[in-house]
Amino acid sequence: MATSSAGGAGGTYSYRNGATHSHSHKSSPHTPKPLSLNSTSKNHAKSRSLAPSSTTTQRRNSTTPKDHHPPVPGRVRVAVRLRPRNAEESLADADFADCVELQPELKRLKLRKNNWDSDTYAFDEVLTEFASQKRVYEVVARPVVESVLDGYNGTIMAYGQTGTGKTYTLGRLGEEDTAARGIMVRAMEDILADVSLENDSVSVSYLQLYMESIQDLLDPANDNITIVEDPKTGDVSLPGASLVEIRDQQSFVELLRLGEAHRFAANTKLNTESSRSHAILMVHVRRSMKGRDAGHSSENGNHPHMIKSLKPSVVRKGKLVVVDLAGSERIDKSGSEGHTLEEAKSINLSLSALGKCINALAENSAHVPFRDSKLTRLLRDSFGGTARTSLVITIGPSPKHRGETASTIMFGQRAMKVENMVKLKEEFDYKSLARRLDVELDKLIMEHERQQKAFEDEIERMATEAQHQLSEVERNYIDLLEKEKSKYQKDYMDSIRKLEDQLVMNQRKDEDSHIKSRAEVSAEELADLKRMLQKETLLRKAAEGEVNNLKIQVSELKTSEASAKSEILKVHKMLEEDVHQKEKLEREIAILQSQLLQLSLESDQTRHQFERAGLEKDTSSVNSLTSQVKHQQQASGNGEKPSIAKLFEQVGLQKILSLLEAEDADVRIHAVKVVANLAAEEANQAKIVEAGGLTSLLRLLQSSQDETIHRVAAGAIANLAMNESNQELIMSQGGISLLSITAATAEDPQTLRMVAGAIANLCGNDKLQTKLRGEGGIKALLGMVRCRHPDVHAQVARGIANFAKCESRASSLGTKSARSFLIEDGALAWIVQNANNEASSIRRHIELALCHLAQHEANAKDMINGGALWELVRISRDCSREDIKTLAHRTLASSPTFQAEMRRMRICY
Ligand code: ADP
Ligand code: MG
Repeated sequence: MATSSAGGAGGTYSYRNGATHSHSHKSSPHTPKPLSLNSTSKNHAKSRSLAPSSTTTQRRNSTTPKDHHPPVPGRVRVAVRLRPRNAEESLADADFADCVELQPELKRLKLRKNNWDSDTYAFDEVLTEFASQKRVYEVVARPVVESVLDGYNGTIMAYGQTGTGKTYTLGRLGEEDTAARGIMVRAMEDILADVSLENDSVSVSYLQLYMESIQDLLDPANDNITIVEDPKTGDVSLPGASLVEIRDQQSFVELLRLGEAHRFAANTKLNTESSRSHAILMVHVRRSMKGRDAGHSSENGNHPHMIKSLKPSVVRKGKLVVVDLAGSERIDKSGSEGHTLEEAKSINLSLSALGKCINALAENSAHVPFRDSKLTRLLRDSFGGTARTSLVITIGPSPKHRGETASTIMFGQRAMKVENMVKLKEEFDYKSLARRLDVELDKLIMEHERQQKAFEDEIERMATEAQHQLSEVERNYIDLLEKEKSKYQKDYMDSIRKLEDQLVMNQRKDEDSHIKSRAEVSAEELADLKRMLQKETLLRKAAEGEVNNLKIQVSELKTSEASAKSEILKVHKMLEEDVHQKEKLEREIAILQSQLLQLSLESDQTRHQFERAGLEKDTSSVNSLTSQVKHQQQASGNGEKPSIAKLFEQVGLQKILSLLEAEDADVRIHAVKVVANLAAEEANQAKIVEAGGLTSLLRLLQSSQDETIHRVAAGAIANLAMNESNQELIMSQGGISLLSITAATAEDPQTLRMVAGAIANLCGNDKLQTKLRGEGGIKALLGMVRCRHPDVHAQVARGIANFAKCESRASSLGTKSARSFLIEDGALAWIVQNANNEASSIRRHIELALCHLAQHEANAKDMINGGALWELVRISRDCSREDIKTLAHRTLASSPTFQAEMRRMRICY
């Protein structure tokens, strides 16, 4: 009895493998990566390993959005499902036994060869004709659905002969009998139960693939949808397909019904059956981890607080693909369908390509022909990719179809050998962070303007009020004074008049004195006069009192005037304070803006680093710097980052440069990062230099003690030093000695790489050779090889090659006759030592430097003594770069000194 067993796993795994059902998981601590300018992401590329990762329980209480989620192995799981005999089979095959015998408890299936012999096959799950739809969903689909909810990609696929129950298993709507609901309907129920409709989104596409063309089942007129592949990540997408957002189960079922109707109509039109086409349902689940991770406050109006909580939320994007494949039977025998041979081939193309890919993956072949068909392009992630994949193969019981059943079983067996590396699809939601910050910024600006306006209004109101009061008081005072004066004048005149009258009367009385005795008259007169005098005195007193009163009133008025003045002074002081406050606010806004700028740039870099992580080939700094510039140009070319350009405009270069001298060290670091990122973009360089940025950066090298500032500033200088006129500027500002000091004192390899890169750029300028060497540039460059980091060595080698190239140019023009400064400064020993360095970025530069040095006859003797001739001979023979090889050969052939030495050493040449 022949026995084949399931591949790889040997049947010891439970059906629910790896990520959804692992026993231990590493809850790796939150290790935030520093947001450094040039942080490399080597760790990402090679982390396909070991640790089983997130589990369902981990999902519920995950608090660490920046955890590493290394991919974990996850074999394709395969279940076999047997359809019960149908009425026809019960009648026709009544006397015959089924062609298969299931042993579900052993997870085995026996395929009868004849009456006395059978083959046995093991599967991950064996589902008998009695298995309910619910059980099928639970063992085949639920683990995949849970993975998708956790942020993984997932695939559920049915394979088998037409009529064996693929559509029954996947696509039944079960409206007449809920127990009959298929996998699609149940999967969506589970998804909708788990997501939150406020924060998450679920959207679906539904497609049909027939004769290598993809048709939108939700919009049948759209029948030639193209597959788009991201060249970097390999992700496939169908931007042309309708994507419908699902918010409740009912609308999803409607959608499936609509798709089914369209499929039926389309197939009638194409004169085919649905069994010839593949139906593909794609469910995109996007979950925001905001609120799911602790301590993430955002709506906090307090801005200094806000600066600290600038943390983008994390989104997880799982994609569930459910594929109802075309019938697996061969159709070449069914000419009856009226297809030409070409059509028949095309109909079968996707399915046979799928078989080939699975064979190649099962056998671990180097080449998997994914590109051969649309189906295999679409399912690239499902087999051998990062998705969790579950396959159900459907078979019928009839002995008549034994051949097809056997081939279905073999397909399932091979698929079980396919190993995927399931990987969490998680990323930072930078877009919404940027949006949030924009809103916050607008709010702050608006609030500030509002306060300013209200304040100015208040001041104006108070000033006019005080003015009013003052003039009112003045007016009253003058009125009163005037009234009093006229009253006294009148009183005075009255008194005078009375006295005169009195006098006249007295004179008259005098004349009539003979009537009364003189004494009598005088006594009377005296009494009268006395009375009048008393009255007069009283009047005077009253007048004096009145005057005193008036005086008091005047002095009161004066004090009220003084208090009004002090009020105005107070208001002035408040105004000044507010101006101060405004300036502070503006500074904070600038910091916020620069941080936003920095964050956006870093998000870009992070993305690029992720993208580059797989292609980790080139470590040369110039390449990485230029590629950064390119990325940024591309990004801005695509209009992808209008907000950066906008912010740059808003904040203004001058402001950013002024922040380089800020007192707060954090602000300085942010500012220098922003300047460095701007300097990476060629379009900004001239503006930065014009605004004095280069001078500020050089000054920072000298004045700052901070390693990060040194590294970032040196990186920016290296970028600016790519331009010839900037090179001269750097030299004229004493840049080389500043760079030399940093070169001698820095310890961080990345700082040294930047400094070496900057000097290497300066080395390539013909005009600066003598000055550069005179100010110790070459010695500084050579000094940096004390750091063993290959990136630093690559930059040193590049500098030497640049320098040697300029020298060889000068010697061929006749402007240099003495031997090379490089040799004078003792570079030859290091050059010879590294001429065959295993890092190609170092080796290539050294090879070129040697060729350039050898072109000047004055160097030949030193080169022979230093052992450089041997290296040149080796380069001219073995170098894998044809152009360098030829150059070395030509150089050796044209130098009489080398020729003579080679003859002496009997080197045949
Ligand atoms: P396929 O999609 O593979 O061509 P279908 O799902 O259309 O096959 O099934 C063919 C027929 O068999 C349908 O009438 C379906 O109702 C029936 N059928 C399939 N599987 C089962 C099952 N497990 N139990 C009962 N009837 C089934
Ligand atoms: Mg079907």
